[in-house]
Amino acid sequence: MMAKISPDEPIHILGAGLSGLSAATLLAKGGREVHVYEVRGDSGARFDGDFQGLENWTSSRDFFDEMREWGLDPDAFKSTLFSEIDLIHPDDKITNPITGPGGAFRIVERGTDEHCIDQGFKRMAIAAGVNIHYGVKRTPDECHIVAAGPKDSSAVAFGEVFETTHENITAFQLNDKLAPGAYSYLIIIDGVGLICTCLWRKQRRTERYLNETIAWYEQHYELNRKPIKRVGGKGDFSLPSQYVHKGRWYVGEAGGLQDFMWGFGMRYAITSGAMAAQDILGGRSYEEQVRKHLVPLVKISAINRWLLNRVGDRGFKRIANYWMKNQTKNGDGLVFMKWIYQPGIFRKSLWPLVRLGMLRKKKLKDGRRVLHMPFRKSLKRDNWEPSTRAEEIGAQWKTHRKSGGSTSFGADDQ
Ligand SMILES: Cc1cc2nc3c(=O)[nH]c(=O)nc-3n(C[C@H](O)[C@H](O)[C@H](O)COP(=O)(O)OP(=O)(O)OC[C@H]3O[C@@H](n4cnc5c(N)ncnc54)[C@H](O)[C@@H]3O)c2cc1C
Repeated sequence: MMAKISPDEPIHILGAGLSGLSAATLLAKGGREVHVYEVRGDSGARFDGDFQGLENWTSSRDFFDEMREWGLDPDAFKSTLFSEIDLIHPDDKITNPITGPGGAFRIVERGTDEHCIDQGFKRMAIAAGVNIHYGVKRTPDECHIVAAGPKDSSAVAFGEVFETTHENITAFQLNDKLAPGAYSYLIIIDGVGLICTCLWRKQRRTERYLNETIAWYEQHYELNRKPIKRVGGKGDFSLPSQYVHKGRWYVGEAGGLQDFMWGFGMRYAITSGAMAAQDILGGRSYEEQVRKHLVPLVKISAINRWLLNRVGDRGFKRIANYWMKNQTKNGDGLVFMKWIYQPGIFRKSLWPLVRLGMLRKKKLKDGRRVLHMPFRKSLKRDNWEPSTRAEEIGAQWKTHRKSGGSTSFGADDQ
């Protein structure tokens, strides 16, 4: 069924995250009356000071050029381009994937401070004439565009934001102990750092993973760390059978547009918001655009995730070695990251196994059918005793929390 909104009807959007605000801005610029409803008090409140990476490897085009072409302004928020990272192998060896001047990714801050990407998108929306209603909860059937973010948990990430004297850096660590099934990272921008660990297997007492990860980074980098706050949240990995359902456009994570492999969902959120707006304004069909440009990437990320789920640190070590060999051959570390999202016949042929082995059919409350990736169970090897330093870091955080250190995630985010 084709979804239609008559040209003089106001458009209602659920959620003032990146996907909702991207759609809202472009619709308002296209002359439509737009209302966005956001249950939280402000855009970015879900993340509160988290650093996130806007990737530049799922397309041959620079993402900021794409944004400008759609009518979004990437200069409306602070971003820091990185063309080199520390790649930390599971055996603690550190190597350096390097890319050309175009950079591999940009780090942006999520939150309610002026320089955050969420606030940049909010300013763009307001300047275009969008009406944002904060502190207002709505249901999907009251809205045309559903941009309400994740519902279920397939994975979680926890981090600590801290003051530091270390120079700007990003480090990416493949380590099955500190980040079960996934990776941890360190990002430092202008005196503020974030250490985050991602758990792709469900754990009890999750803070011990973060404390141990912080202990690891402290041992290997001179951080001079002073905790500020702890941040985190969940990721929902689902492939729906439709992206326009019962006359509603599902964008961003609410539409299952998220990267199963690493959890890089911001680019999908902004892109899908722009695609929905283009469709409503009379351009190309959202369903077709998403299926042509985004679903193949989400599918290959699911295949890659299934492969990653089959390996532990030995497999991670092979990946890290292969990445560096590939860089020596091509002179650019980004070639490997791009290759990951351009599957050959072998990886494509794994899709039926991935569907069967990793995804579960599910019917959502709104009637949509999805293939959902459930949170994996923990493994025996996930149970280990914390180090003395990790316990000290945990105690340090408890003291800091008592004196006002905030945590931006709760039971709902796990
Ligand atoms: C800890 C963490 C780290 C991450 N790191 C990265 C990264 O480095 N790079 C990257 O690309 N991606 C990253 N992601 C993923 C990325 O943040 C998300 O994919 C992206 O923000 C999704 O945007 P969205 O607009 O779909 O949803 P959201 O940003 O979740 O926005 C949805 C909004 O809808 C509101 N809402 C929900 N229900 C209602 C309702 N009933 N009524 C009104 N409002 C409602 C919510 O409050 C929220 O503000 C990370 C995610 C987490 C949790």
